[in-house]
Amino acid sequence: MILGVWAHPTREFPEGQDSVTDVRAWLGKLRDAGISIYLPFVSSSSGHVFDSPVLGEPQRDLLGPIVEQAAELDMEVHPIVGLGGVTPGFSDSQGFYVPMQREDEEMPSWSAHWGDPAWDENVEHIVDIGTGILEDYDCDGLHMDAVRYPNSAALNDHPCVCERCCEARQQWLGKPVPDAEDLANPAVSYLEVEMRNRFVSALAWDLTSECRTRGLYISLAARARYLKDAVVEGQDWSAWCRQGILDFVCPMSYNPCFDRFQRFVDEHLRLLDGTEVDYYPGVGRKSSLGTLSPADMIQQLQFVRDQGIEGACIFHAAALEDEDLRLLGEFSRESG
Ligand SMILES: [Zn+2]
Repeated sequence: MILGVWAHPTREFPEGQDSVTDVRAWLGKLRDAGISIYLPFVSSSSGHVFDSPVLGEPQRDLLGPIVEQAAELDMEVHPIVGLGGVTPGFSDSQGFYVPMQREDEEMPSWSAHWGDPAWDENVEHIVDIGTGILEDYDCDGLHMDAVRYPNSAALNDHPCVCERCCEARQQWLGKPVPDAEDLANPAVSYLEVEMRNRFVSALAWDLTSECRTRGLYISLAARARYLKDAVVEGQDWSAWCRQGILDFVCPMSYNPCFDRFQRFVDEHLRLLDGTEVDYYPGVGRKSSLGTLSPADMIQQLQFVRDQGIEGACIFHAAALEDEDLRLLGEFSRESG
């Protein structure tokens, strides 16, 4: 069974513990535990850890030693690119999601900093970053995260009213901003969501083409709640899988509740039925949704294996302690 892991190199290799020997030792431990795919967050709103002609001077270059050491360990590396907080460097004044405001309502601070995929400039920015990584580093593909509009909780009642979304709506709605009555109309909801998916999937397609022309893989950290989050945020990953956008998909189905995790897996198997895309369910050892004990993490992985699913992806590497690595090693040897 294939095991992947989402990873935060800046946490795993703090300054002073980021030599080639340190990188080799940590990746070696993960590899001994059966993990063969490393999905690093190589940038955040505070900076990036790879040489990039687009983003300028890095904080440090961690991706170089990671790619080199992983190759020696027969481990794949797929750096993460995307919108939201995953990528820095959007221009300050333009190209952001602008939520439709209501009187006396505060919007969450992150909503003011989400690069909007309706802006070609934003799509090009992400694609240039991804292409730069593929050209400068010998990695195995790109992993998309936050490739979507921001969270449904804000988006459902606060559609984007940036210049580009307004222009696009003018064509199908006849006005730039939907009012409350429009939002209650299923036809408007359908076209609004379709518009978002069109913009987001254009970015996904561009990244896919860059990977495929180089014979590399493209994958996605997908929203786990398909109807509630993914579709309304313009990330209809079930459709993307049928359209051939992805090579593997990792829905972020982290949940400390085993029943909830099972229901996610059942649903996602149904959504992927008939596609060729590899499915690696996300297992959250430690996430915003809670913490699993090492044994409970293994229980979720056993369930995945027993469904005949080819792999799983763990969140996240820095949460794995010696006991996790020991149990993962045993699980991997048993699972072959
Ligand atoms: Zn917009």
